[in-house]
Amino acid sequence: MFHQLVDLVLPNRCVLCDQVLRPGTKELICTFCRAMLPNNLSSCRGCGLPHPQPTSHLRCNRCRRTYPFNPADLVLSPLRHEGAGRYLVHRLKFQQNLRAGKALAQVMLAQIRQVYAGQTMPRIICPVPLSRLNQIRRPTNQAAYLATHLSRALGIPLGLQHLQRRHGPAQRNLPRSARLRLSSSTFSVNKPLAHNHIGVVDDVITTGRTAQVIKEQLYAAGAKRVDFWSATRAVD
Ligand SMILES: [Zn+2]
Ligand SMILES: [Zn+2]
Repeated sequence: MFHQLVDLVLPNRCVLCDQVLRPGTKELICTFCRAMLPNNLSSCRGCGLPHPQPTSHLRCNRCRRTYPFNPADLVLSPLRHEGAGRYLVHRLKFQQNLRAGKALAQVMLAQIRQVYAGQTMPRIICPVPLSRLNQIRRPTNQAAYLATHLSRALGIPLGLQHLQRRHGPAQRNLPRSARLRLSSSTFSVNKPLAHNHIGVVDDVITTGRTAQVIKEQLYAAGAKRVDFWSATRAVD
């Protein structure tokens, strides 16, 4: 509420450097900061990790070896989880800063529109649900916030009830080895799927295990294709 009031009274400023933006622009990041973003645009389509060097392959060696058992059928993460990318995710997640969330959604949208040009988009967009404890801690689920924004902008229905998180601690509190052991029963599919091409949205992909588990559950429920969109991708 406070942020919304401030936005009404004060001029539009860059979410990263606070520079006043062009009047009337819908952008939330100035051209200077945009050029400095940790882009991850030429990443592997199977796991979202950056390609170490320019390559004509859409998937990394590991994802080509394990195809079609990649974390998702198409992974898009326009930013690496570092610098300004990490900063914006933290502003959204821990400070409930919705302008930071909107800026991330805009960066995601630009990549989604470019990659899907002329291709079939998912028929429904589902955010990764929070654990119960985090639901109490945070009034805004950052994944649901991003998914809502993308759903409106792309005209794709939002599926808030399809995925459910059953139990278990928040992933961010666990070491990498424990994250990789995430049980496939952590998530369940709550509602019958009316569509077989699903888009799943999260703020960050850390190990890819959450994406993999959700894809397995959606496939078991009848999905034929699961695309995973996150704002950032952690690079180990
Ligand atoms: Zn700026
Ligand atoms: Zn890969």
